[in-house]
Amino acid sequence: MNIDLLKRLCETPGVPGREERVRDLISKEIKGLFDEVKTDAMGNLICKRSARGKGKAKGERATRVLLLCHMDQIGFYVRDVDAKGFIRVVAAGGFDTRNLFSRRMTLVTDSGDIPCVMNPGGRPVHIASEADKNKIPEVKELLVDTGLPADQVKKRVKIGDYCVYSDPFIELGEKAASPAMDNRIACWLGIEAVREIERKKTAHACEIYVAFTTQEEVGLRGAKTSSHIVDCDIGIGIDVTLSCDVPGVPEDERVTEQGKGVGLHVMDSSFIADYKLIDDMEKTAKKARIPHQRTILARGGQDGAAAQQTGRGARAVGVVVGTRYIHTTCEMIHKKDLIAARDLLATWVPGL
Ligand SMILES: [Zn+2]
Repeated sequence: MNIDLLKRLCETPGVPGREERVRDLISKEIKGLFDEVKTDAMGNLICKRSARGKGKAKGERATRVLLLCHMDQIGFYVRDVDAKGFIRVVAAGGFDTRNLFSRRMTLVTDSGDIPCVMNPGGRPVHIASEADKNKIPEVKELLVDTGLPADQVKKRVKIGDYCVYSDPFIELGEKAASPAMDNRIACWLGIEAVREIERKKTAHACEIYVAFTTQEEVGLRGAKTSSHIVDCDIGIGIDVTLSCDVPGVPEDERVTEQGKGVGLHVMDSSFIADYKLIDDMEKTAKKARIPHQRTILARGGQDGAAAQQTGRGARAVGVVVGTRYIHTTCEMIHKKDLIAARDLLATWVPGL
């Protein structure tokens, strides 16, 4: 598998509304895979691959299949720089503040990236009271510290700059971890699945669109305009899902089990997948011997909902990869599940 691409995608910062660096990387990477590529007003990168090898009769409209892969990762926007050079932030996306102690970060500014750390204010352990020690910080209490003199911070950092976790992409046995696995795995899949179709010269009568979308983490925003522009018949939301196959979570709540294959996303709180598409996808997976598992997310949403509910509506489904420690700095996936997702998309989509 093209692990180098996943690493590069994961290590390129891009919060909701600031996906341009991820988009630039993808734009360079997809050369030759699509017939038309455009960026819409919201920053979505919308790519079209026309039918190959077979097609509809003249005048008939080809089925439009849209793969939605969000580019944004959760992060923070600068909301204040104080007299001492400490930076306060607001969150873009859902953080579990229990995970926000002692973080290494990258602050993205017009004058370049600045390494920094983030901590809640207050006393260190040596002098903390019992009440201090049990306190979970709120995002508004977090301090980003660049170590730079205040006047330099004032000069270089402005309200609206953003920061993300700076932890590197790592491989652990058959797994990999990164703070941006959600959702650079989907960006990887949007590229690698089409590359597989191209490599195998698989014919398809449908038009395959891949939208690398913006602002998913704050409410599936880019997916709405993408879906409207493409006017798709079938929408496939590609994303991470939970994998709670760890001690402390009962088996019935694990959502997916890592290493057991690509997740066929039946429903979440934003949409219910078209059951016939799930059946069809499952049949394809069985026939091609691609490991797969059905999965339901009790809470949470993803881009598939936007494809389903925008404009005249579309049949929609989700293709997901089980991820441990989601929305933390160590989001972990199993490479086998990612490969299964790529193979399922490359096998199933051309037949639609
Ligand atoms: Zn996501």
